[in-house]
Amino acid sequence: MAGTEWKPTACILCECNCGLEVELGGEDGRHLVKFRGDKRHPASQGYACEKPHRLDHYQHGRDRLTSPLRRRKDGTFEAIDWETAISEVAARLANVRDSWGGDTIFYYGGGGQGNHLPGAYATATRRALGSRWRSSALAQEKTGEFWVGDRMMGVATTRADFEHCDVALFIGKNPWHSHSFPRARVTLKEISQDPARTLIVIDPRRTETAELADIHLQVRPGSDAWLLTALLGVLVQEDLVNQAFVAEHTNGADDVLAVLRSVAVAECSARAGLDEGLVRKAARAIGKAPALSSFEDLGVQMNHHSTLVSYLHRLVVFLTGSIGKPGTHYIPTTMIPFATGASKQVSPVAGAPIISGLVPCNLIAEEILSDHPKRYRAMLVEAANPAHSLADSKRMREALTALDTVVVIDVAMSETARLAHYVLPASTQFEKAEATFFNFDFPKNTFHLRPRLLEPMPGPLPEAEIHSRLCEALGAVTEADLAPLREAAELGPEAYGQAVAEAVMGDQRLGAQAPVLLYRTMKLPETLREGAVMLGLALRLAMKEGPSLARAGFAGDNPLAVAKSLFEAIIASPSGVVFAVDEWSDVLRRIATPDRKIQLALPDLLEAWRALLSEAADVRDSAFPFVLSAGERRSFTANTIIRDPTWRKKDADGALRINPEDAKRLGVGSGEQVRLTTKRGSALVRVELSDSMQRGHVSLPNGLGLSYPTEGGEKATGVAPNELTASEDRDPFVGTPWHKHVAARVEAVG
Ligand code: SF4
Repeated sequence: MAGTEWKPTACILCECNCGLEVELGGEDGRHLVKFRGDKRHPASQGYACEKPHRLDHYQHGRDRLTSPLRRRKDGTFEAIDWETAISEVAARLANVRDSWGGDTIFYYGGGGQGNHLPGAYATATRRALGSRWRSSALAQEKTGEFWVGDRMMGVATTRADFEHCDVALFIGKNPWHSHSFPRARVTLKEISQDPARTLIVIDPRRTETAELADIHLQVRPGSDAWLLTALLGVLVQEDLVNQAFVAEHTNGADDVLAVLRSVAVAECSARAGLDEGLVRKAARAIGKAPALSSFEDLGVQMNHHSTLVSYLHRLVVFLTGSIGKPGTHYIPTTMIPFATGASKQVSPVAGAPIISGLVPCNLIAEEILSDHPKRYRAMLVEAANPAHSLADSKRMREALTALDTVVVIDVAMSETARLAHYVLPASTQFEKAEATFFNFDFPKNTFHLRPRLLEPMPGPLPEAEIHSRLCEALGAVTEADLAPLREAAELGPEAYGQAVAEAVMGDQRLGAQAPVLLYRTMKLPETLREGAVMLGLALRLAMKEGPSLARAGFAGDNPLAVAKSLFEAIIASPSGVVFAVDEWSDVLRRIATPDRKIQLALPDLLEAWRALLSEAADVRDSAFPFVLSAGERRSFTANTIIRDPTWRKKDADGALRINPEDAKRLGVGSGEQVRLTTKRGSALVRVELSDSMQRGHVSLPNGLGLSYPTEGGEKATGVAPNELTASEDRDPFVGTPWHKHVAARVEAVG
């Protein structure tokens, strides 16, 4: 539109982080009034869904924090100045470190769907305190997939080339709403409308993606392992395995094939609640596909047998040779190695596996509510809301209350902030430079450092500034450390880069504080200041991924020079930059197991699989005859990033979806309230009759139940799903929760 000034930024509501252009307006010129997709963004290319149009509800939330807060003895909060807040927080955390050890200071969060730079700066604070253990939402979603991927490939995660596949398979995923790959809806429609391509969806609900599918395998909730076994059985028994690929690139096939040769496909299909003929049709499409792309997501990763399902899914991929060629799976070059496998360490109290560096979320409360000498004593929570988003909220609140010190860094007064001793207000994602590391595209991968869109509001500070002040108050960084770097910065970028490299490589203490050194001393435009930490990450990438960077135009023998040119491109590209270009032939070379082959036989998972196959049929508890899927992604849900309930144009209070026949049997009409009860809690909720649900299955959306100020006082809208979930209901291998399979009772309330 003529005269409109469009400013580049990104959507912060899902991991795609589509590039957006925004028009600012309103009385103060600070409102985000219009949005459109940014065509210059190299990944999203102008695409955006409906959600970002309501982002001003995030920027102007009524519960935004404007000053540091300190909890009084009576539980209320008083505003304090920043100097007091930083010195008291540093002193309290230092006291915990000195009394019980820095490893009793637990870090949770570090970023959401749109902000990962805080986590990069928090490493400096954690190192200053000796904090060792941490976790984030990934540890209740993706760690099973990472664990399996790492053991099979030596690489935690793969992604898939849906744009060019012949068959697309989605397992417990509804990309129409949850996206996860660029321009998801465009790609789904293209596959759906092309008669030569096949879209297969495995989901108990007839989702928006299932509506587009050629084959919808409407699996009985929680029986995905049976269905995948049936699909694999058909592949083996009908000779649809890619024998050449298996022989050349894998190990351990015999053990797997031995199980699958004797699998009873008809019985497994029946256990999954499906017609055997439809299962065979899907398996044949998968087995005969020249190029298969697949994606598993929370529908199975938060469900019964979740880690086993991740394993079986990978067997489908590898037995069909669906990796390393266009239209199949790939291993991308990522800006940081954020997904890794299991370490040799286990958590200090429960002995839980640490995958991707993360303590399983469902065990955090157990690690606190213990008399173990190494129990967590303090918690630093950043851009996250564990009191709401982790299983068993009641127990999580109890755990947070038992800690010596809780410090929350956040934009708004969250459920967790209400339990903190100190709350430090952060700038919004539009008041600072920000970025995410959820970039998995291939062969070109992108990175987007978005400049500050708005002048910062007085009071809150960017997390980079908060962590720098904390590190200085802890004595980890001094003016004497910074002065030489400031002087070098005056001499120009080469001298500065050299001085930083010498400082951080020559002194372990300063190496640990690299993010703060860069933030405090680098010469950058104010609108990009928080991006300083990217220089260190660019250097890491230049040392590790030279060929991929060179193909993207960042070539050279000197990693420091390559990092400098990449960093300069990042800060000069407000709509994002292509930082790596890969080749399909790179993919199989990235298999990092000791023999460079994919390990098909994982003994513990094979054992769990055999045990599953000998299990008797499930017996439902008659007291809880429904399966509740807690935390469904819908048109107007976005985790807890937007707290203002009026941002939702539809389904404002998040109805419980229920099959019409179930509703009729219960005597409940559309829009009426029911009581929803699980072993852990009970809630009143409005119902929406939907024949997309199968009988016996009900679903609640994610992100509801947040407390928000209204004219009549604080009010929570909708049901907070984790008031109904139990922390002990989790995967036996990696501890991920079974939120999509909560035994429940639904009753009319009259
Ligand atoms: S796909 Fe995700 S990132 Fe893109 S506009 Fe929609 S919610 Fe935002």
